[in-house]
Amino acid sequence: MNNENAAARGRLDAVHAAIDKAAALAGRRGDDVTVIAVSKTHPASAIAPLIAAGQQVFGENRVQEAQQKWPALLAEHRGCALHLVGQLQSNKAEAAVALFDAIHSLDRPSLVTAIARAVQAAGRQPQLFVQVNIGAEPQKGGVAIDALPGLLALIAAADLRADGLMAVPPLGVEPAPYFALLAKLARRHGLAGLSIGMSADYATAVTLGATHVRVGSALFGERQQG
Ligand SMILES: *Cc1c(COP(=O)(O)O)cnc(C)c1O
Repeated sequence: MNNENAAARGRLDAVHAAIDKAAALAGRRGDDVTVIAVSKTHPASAIAPLIAAGQQVFGENRVQEAQQKWPALLAEHRGCALHLVGQLQSNKAEAAVALFDAIHSLDRPSLVTAIARAVQAAGRQPQLFVQVNIGAEPQKGGVAIDALPGLLALIAAADLRADGLMAVPPLGVEPAPYFALLAKLARRHGLAGLSIGMSADYATAVTLGATHVRVGSALFGERQQG
């Protein structure tokens, strides 16, 4: 094993150990949590060592960047899955449905329409997470909490299946209350998936029910941008 592969394995093992510990505290199994390795801004050469270490689920936040990086990687590593964790423009819905196994940023009626059309054409539906603007921040994506029931009804009416909820809590404040609120909303609507937790707070998210954690820098090191 070369040095880069060993380093990637070490970071992956550390993340899994922290998840196992947090899951045990909550009476859950670490294996029930999907780790999405968020590879945005990182080149294929940085992704390969994590794949060699056994990581199979990756996340990107831009359709265009994913289109440049991933088709070759997916062709070579057939077990890998790709999740879109960033904002999606309606005019990229078709490309997103074609490339991603899950979309974590469904947050408005126009996007429901665009994704429904793309799903019809493709004959397959990626997993869909509805992003909620859990801290009511004007600059952030996500449906407002009081508009969530209406958006879920639209999704069902469009013959799409919502698999869960996703949120990014406000920066610089304790995330646990926001995670707990999102978990409550997911339960209320009978949604099993809960996409919460990033490098700084994924262990907390696991204790509060995360089924998917989106971990970038803890697995890849710090990003230059993005
Ligand atoms: C970049 C990003 C992450 C990963 O962030 P880290 O702090 O590097 O773990 C998770 N979720 C979303 C939506 C992101 O854009």
